[in-house]
Amino acid sequence: MFNELISELKNRNVSIIKVVDVSMLTAKENRGYNIAILIGITLSPSYILRLSAENITDHSEFGDKEHRADELAEWVAGSISARGYHAFAQSERNLINDYFNVSTKTTPLPHKKIALMSGLGWIGKNNLLVTQEYGCALCLCTILTDAPFPTENAPVMSPMCGDCSVCKDICPPHVIHGTTWEPGMNRDLIVDVYHCEGCLKCLVHCPWTQNYMRAYNFI
Ligand code: SF4
Ligand code: SF4
Repeated sequence: MFNELISELKNRNVSIIKVVDVSMLTAKENRGYNIAILIGITLSPSYILRLSAENITDHSEFGDKEHRADELAEWVAGSISARGYHAFAQSERNLINDYFNVSTKTTPLPHKKIALMSGLGWIGKNNLLVTQEYGCALCLCTILTDAPFPTENAPVMSPMCGDCSVCKDICPPHVIHGTTWEPGMNRDLIVDVYHCEGCLKCLVHCPWTQNYMRAYNFI
């Protein structure tokens, strides 16, 4: 089942597939499941280029791919359930119906935490997952399950932001504080999410995202 699922996800243009053991987390976080599957879809270099060059806010591709990642997570959970195991897709719809805390804008087990456990990337000063290959240009969703999939946990990466402050400097409402993330750090020390305008500038202009865009020869 595992190989079939991976191959089907790749056919559906999923760039990142990671499976981690989450059995050591609290029951509130893992909801009693021992495995988490992370899927990631990349934003296109042409979209990043357009947002950079025109300095505009346009959620079209971002919104579509966030939605697509959610749909795929729900499809994965359905496929696993059809084979007799239990699975829960952490899609926006399922979380809002269930355990998204509206006042703090948090969930017990964010996709980013699962990504960190997989060694995929680090938490940047923009509070986004940053990866060496794609920068922040990823739309993520996760699935919790009890299916017996092979897991690959990795050490949590230390931030590779260095002295960079691009995201802090470019943020229009100045809600990024410039703090380097550490394990267990309160998110509010990094960014004031309550006043974030969702403009995506901290995602687009991150040098790691720009490197990804350049690697595909779009500039
Ligand atoms: S999305 Fe825009 S407003 Fe929000 S933190 Fe990033 S740059 Fe600032
Ligand atoms: S823009 Fe710079 S400081 Fe911000 S997340 Fe990217 S590398 Fe880190």
